[in-house]
Formats: sequence, structure tokens, C-alpha cells
Amino acid sequence: MKILVINCGSSSLKFQVIDAVTEELLAKGLCERIGIDGSITYENVKDGTGKETSNPAIPDHNVAISLVIDALMNDRTGVIKSLDEIGAVGHRIVHGGEAFTSSVVINDEVIQAIKDVSDLAPLHNPANLIGVAACQKLMPGTPMVAVFDTAFHQTMPSKAYMYALPLSYYEDYKIRRYGFHGTSHSFVSKKAAEIVGKDYADLKTIVCHLGNGASISAVMNGKCVDTSMGLTPLEGLIMGTRSGDLDPAIVEFIANKENKTASEVLNVLNKKSGVFALSGEFSSDFRDLESAYKKGDKKAQLAVDAFAYRVAKYVGAYTAAMNGVDVIAFTAGIGENSPFVREKVLSYLGYLGIEYDPAANAQRGDVVKISTDSSKVAVYAIATNEELAIARETYALCK
Ligand code: AMP
Repeated sequence: MKILVINCGSSSLKFQVIDAVTEELLAKGLCERIGIDGSITYENVKDGTGKETSNPAIPDHNVAISLVIDALMNDRTGVIKSLDEIGAVGHRIVHGGEAFTSSVVINDEVIQAIKDVSDLAPLHNPANLIGVAACQKLMPGTPMVAVFDTAFHQTMPSKAYMYALPLSYYEDYKIRRYGFHGTSHSFVSKKAAEIVGKDYADLKTIVCHLGNGASISAVMNGKCVDTSMGLTPLEGLIMGTRSGDLDPAIVEFIANKENKTASEVLNVLNKKSGVFALSGEFSSDFRDLESAYKKGDKKAQLAVDAFAYRVAKYVGAYTAAMNGVDVIAFTAGIGENSPFVREKVLSYLGYLGIEYDPAANAQRGDVVKISTDSSKVAVYAIATNEELAIARETYALCK
């Protein structure tokens, strides 16, 4: 069975087609600038025909999906002959609130429940649902599955997810910590268990998902017990342009000083903070920051050092939360590709009995073992694959 995986944003739509049985990636692509002008990039990965980009008008997501289908059925570069070959569609949905603890087949009630929690993710959930509606219109008989970023973290105990706020905020508005990147944390923690050859239900793993958005999770005995993102993806680690943890009093302080509204300050915390801000608005990309760091740029050094320090602090906290740790896994853009940042984080963790091999850390690959055989904690870089995880979940519900 072939699965179409859709990750729909307000003006973009990423897609992949994966053979659910062999788990082979057949094709992938991206529609951008939907509603503005439009561009589509498509690649037949199976036959290696190379990337092709064109710029058709894409006024809305229905047009985007029909262009995706045209690309997938193209005589020269397509990977399907007819739409019937797509057995199911897996949709990434950012926020499932407390309603969804796992992936579900989409029906009218599910769509309503996703709408009901949309005020928790006002930028993402409505866009995700537009993608669902567009697919349903063009592929009416094909089952659709919702795979939630928040679902994996629903196993957190209340002591981890409750904010110390008036209880009515939780009862009336569902204000609590939810966590995000759940598909990645789930995929990587399972893969880590496989790699070390231990039972997932009997392992303590810390997953450091370090990308432009960054989060960290503690996974104990096959369940997430804590994670760094909160009600929204702003909490926790320092990120590309997001501040992560800070004193909430700062919001009012800046609002008063700069005559800004709360939402204007939050815009700064989401879009103009993080390593981008600490580097003096130089860059949010760690490739730029690392090279500037090595040339002695003080602001880039502060940005990278503060980033790594925050990750190390969370690793310490989550080791305490689980009373130990067996595996630490680095993943996502920075976690997979930056030996420099991994080494900086690990430099704080000798007290855990971690020994790492700098030569091994410099290696690249889907799975890189960084720790030595005598290390008390196994440390790996593991490539995440959220699309494959979505395809697996979709297949499991639709096969
Ligand atoms: P993601 O959000 O997981 O796609 O990660 C994107 C981020 O990964 C980029 O913004 C970079 O900061 C970082 N990144 C990607 N490749 C590298 C690399 N080779 N070295 C350092 N950082 C990288």
C-alpha cells in the first residue's frame, strides 16, 4: 500500500509518498507561496529523476493538492498510474489537545474535535484542516488519518504537565503543558531502543530534537514522562528564533518599556529571539553560527554556548526525573548534523559517566554512535523521519 503523507501549513504543503510495506520513499515535494503566487518542487526519489521546480499559480490548497496529484501521476516522473494506488493519506496535525492520545482515522467528529482545540494552535490547526479538506475533495474514497504532534506526550503525569496557576485555568481553558515534535520523539526513542537492543518498555531515553524548533523529552519505559515545550512550542530550549524559557514578567516589562501589546511582545519572543537574537540578529542557522564562532565572533559564541548550556540543563533535569538515563539521542537538523554542538552539550555531562569519542562524533549517517563502549550512558545521533512515522501510523490504522 502506498501512503501519501501531507504536512500542510498556511501557505505551504509538504508531501511524500511512501511504500508502507517496504518503507521506501517513492516521491517527495513541496508547494510554497500558496495564496501568494505559487511554486512546486517535486522529486521522484524512487527512480532518481532529480528535483524539478515550476511556478504555476496556486491560489489555494485545493489547487496545491491537485498539482501534487498531477506530479505524482505524471507520465515521465510520476510514481503512480492512478489515484487508486494511494491506499491512505496521513496528515500531520499539530495540536490534538487532550482529546487525542494517538493517531485516528479522520471522520466528521475528529474534524470537529480538531477545530475545538484550534485556539491552542491558531496558526497550525486551521491550516492542517485545510489540507485534510482539500484531500477529501479530490480523493473522496481514500481513508485519511490524523497524526498529532502532541499525542506522544499525553502520557506525561500531571506533576509534569500542570502549570502552577489557578486550577480554573486548566479546568476552563485547558492551559497545561502539551509538548510538540511528538512524532519525532516517538520515532527516535523507539529507534534508540532497537539500536541498543533493549526492550522499549524497559529503557530510559532522553531525546534532544535540535532543529530550528527544538525540544527535549524524557521517555521512560516506553512512555513520555516529560518534555520541554508547553502550551505552545515557545517554552523550553533556546531555538532558532524562539526564546524558550523565561521569566513571564518580562512580557509586561517589555510591553511597558516599548509601548507594545502582549501579542506584539510574543511575536518578538517567537520570531526575533533565540540564537538569532543572541547572535546580534546575525543568523538563526547553526552553520553560520558555527563558522562565526570559530572565527572568534563573540555574539555567535554566546548564542551557541547558551543554546548548548540550556540543552545540558534539561538533560540533567530529565535524568533526575527518570532517576537515571540509559540513552541520549540527538536528532533533527542540528542534532544530526552538528558534532560541534553535540560536543558542547556533552562537555557538561561527564558526571553521568558519559565518555564520548570525538572521532566517532565527527561521523555522519542515519545512526552514529558517539559514546565509547565503556560509557555509562549510550549516546547516539539518530536521523529522525517524521514522514515515515506518519506513514507507519497511517498504515497501522488502514491496512
Ligand atoms: P530542522 O528544523 O530540523 O530542519 O533543522 C534546521 C536547522 O538545522 C538549520 O536551521 C540549521 O541551524 C541546522 N543545520 C542543518 N544542517 C546543519 C549542519 N550541517 N551543521 C550545523 N547545523 C545544521
